[in-house]
Amino acid sequence: MFKLKHLKGRTSVLMGPTNVGVYKINDYDCILIDTCHFDKIGDSLLKTLKNNFLNPVAIINTHFHGDHIGANKLIKKNFRSKIYAPTIEDFFINNVDYYPLFVFSAKHFSFMNKFKDYAVSPDFPITPNQEEIKIEDIVFKLMNLKGHTPNQKGIVTPDNVVFIGDSVVGEPVIDVMKFIYTFNLQDDFDTKERLIDSNYDLYIPSHGNVTKDITAVIQKNMDNIMRNMDFIRESLVEAKTMEELMVVVYNRYGYTQELVPYYVFKSCIMAYISYLEHKGEIEIVFKNHIPAYKVK
Ligand SMILES: [Zn+2]
Repeated sequence: MFKLKHLKGRTSVLMGPTNVGVYKINDYDCILIDTCHFDKIGDSLLKTLKNNFLNPVAIINTHFHGDHIGANKLIKKNFRSKIYAPTIEDFFINNVDYYPLFVFSAKHFSFMNKFKDYAVSPDFPITPNQEEIKIEDIVFKLMNLKGHTPNQKGIVTPDNVVFIGDSVVGEPVIDVMKFIYTFNLQDDFDTKERLIDSNYDLYIPSHGNVTKDITAVIQKNMDNIMRNMDFIRESLVEAKTMEELMVVVYNRYGYTQELVPYYVFKSCIMAYISYLEHKGEIEIVFKNHIPAYKVK
């Protein structure tokens, strides 16, 4: 499931469902960037680390999503790894059963109860203005990548290679994704601009291929976002409640009847509406006592 690929100097990546960064300190010890999912995928990551004689002394998390922190507890239990995580994100890593709050507006449904079994406290917070972290005398520069989540960080290894979390979706994944979850679209756009202005040798998105040319990949991501934005604008020429808008969007994109994707998708749409409202393009009206959204 995971394939170890050497990138540059001491930096490698375990290509998998979520790419896991590996920075080797010596022949045995290493530092991981993110840990992918829990359950079977986490078990597979653990097996891959052992098969490659890798001993993670630390984990740096880019953000709190379950496919990035899922195996934190398992890895920490097996290797006594120290966990570093950005503030705000660290609360949800420690309180995994609260993070569905971002898509549900109340306690999550019962089938998500098992999330709490994977909660583990990060050992060291990465504070908002912190520009680097030092682990075992190795300095990793940090990049502000907020937008996808409130305080996502990019992790730059001493080889000038940056792990960019979910700030950009790599190829070929971007070609099949219709909507990408974003908490704050304006922050996400600012982050993408900073990435275009940056000058790293290699960029590793958490999903998709490693690239030298981040600008081309960002252009594909932005084309996707702008297509969605135009569709939402067109759909809201007449006022629609969120549920009415979801029906229109589902008719176009053909999503299946699945509970979690529905709520995640709805949160994505709300991020677009919030962005357009802040820009003054959308007004909120009431239809039969229910809030509805309409292009001005
Ligand atoms: Zn994410």
